[in-house]
Amino acid sequence: MSTDFTQPGRQWVIGACETIPIIPGLIKKPAIKKGICQRCGSQVSAKLPNQHFYCRACLELGRVVAEDWLVQNLQIKHWPKLAQPCLWAGQLTDQQSLVAADLVESLQKHRHHLVEAVTGAGKTEMLFPAIIWALKNGLRIAIAAPRIDVAIELFPRLQAAFDCSIGLRHGQTEPLKIEPQLLICTTHQLFKYCQAFDLLIIDEVDAFPFQNNEPLQFAVKQAVRETGSLFFLTATPPDKLLKAAQNKKIGYSSLHRRFHGHHLPIPRLAYCSRSQIKELCPAVVKSTLLKAERAGKQVLVFLPRIAQLPEYLKAYQRTFPKLRIASVSAEDPDRLAKIAAFREKKLDVLLTTTILERGVTFKSVWVIVWQAEDAIYQTAALVQIAGRVGRAADDPDGIVLFCYHRYTKYLRQTMRQIRRLNR
Ligand SMILES: [Zn+2]
Repeated sequence: MSTDFTQPGRQWVIGACETIPIIPGLIKKPAIKKGICQRCGSQVSAKLPNQHFYCRACLELGRVVAEDWLVQNLQIKHWPKLAQPCLWAGQLTDQQSLVAADLVESLQKHRHHLVEAVTGAGKTEMLFPAIIWALKNGLRIAIAAPRIDVAIELFPRLQAAFDCSIGLRHGQTEPLKIEPQLLICTTHQLFKYCQAFDLLIIDEVDAFPFQNNEPLQFAVKQAVRETGSLFFLTATPPDKLLKAAQNKKIGYSSLHRRFHGHHLPIPRLAYCSRSQIKELCPAVVKSTLLKAERAGKQVLVFLPRIAQLPEYLKAYQRTFPKLRIASVSAEDPDRLAKIAAFREKKLDVLLTTTILERGVTFKSVWVIVWQAEDAIYQTAALVQIAGRVGRAADDPDGIVLFCYHRYTKYLRQTMRQIRRLNR
């Protein structure tokens, strides 16, 4: 398939001998310059057997070799100024409206902005006024989420809310034929853009794979236009961004109350002895699952490792033959179908790893974190997991149970942070 170089704001890597058509705004430059990969900003030190340097950091996007070219389409495209882009009929709460107004102001001032909001605070809807303003002014927008399932969940909500060209792009979608004015994508897709977006929204900025990932952060800077705004959304902001906000280098808003006005549920702590914590389905888990069954609730059970899932699944199914139980992990080819089945209440219990810790919304679930002392459960992850519970206005409560053998500093910080958020 030949590359379509006509799309403004896109970039491509081509081989040393490949040529590009003459198109206004289309430029090519060495893909590796002074030992730095121009696609991802990393130092290049790896060599092929033929002694040519190549970039290891962005290898998964296709190999960049020293003689390659980076082709960029820097043409400024004029997007339509839409008179009535919003189809959403919902209403923001007073608090959400304040944050939304801050965001519109930052966008108008070409300023970056950090939004600190607890999960379930209605972050997506708070973006709508800024998106409306952008569409009315002929701007181009992207929302980048850390993982495919989060992007997939966002897309239909935005599609229903906005009357504009809109597209979804992640590692498993077909290439887009036409670039949309409003793009929902995974963060990795940003490597394909340069100087493209007037408004680039990074969802869950504290999430793996974004945090401490220099190439991804480079890609974000490349993808936003020089005059554009970056919005960072998170429940647990990284220190760097908090500092920038404190020094007024970027805008800042916080929303600690969930959209239905209720608090985050305070996790219950269950100490387990050394032998209990090794059991597959111990008494505290059994009693919680029975309680959930009586209350008609679904339960998410988090385990530290993917390798544990099959063994635990068998034990749970043996103990609760009447319940519909499944397991899902990031390596599971059926994971999207299983998550959908859980959402449609075709499953009662879902065993999982931290893949479901953020972004994915279920109504009325309870949560058990097993072996919560494991180093994989740091504060941001635990706060996010607790935030899975009580997201529906008609069911704001629910049980969050942390089963642990050792009370780690992350558990302590999590309890403190949730109490602080609720104040
Ligand atoms: Zn690279």
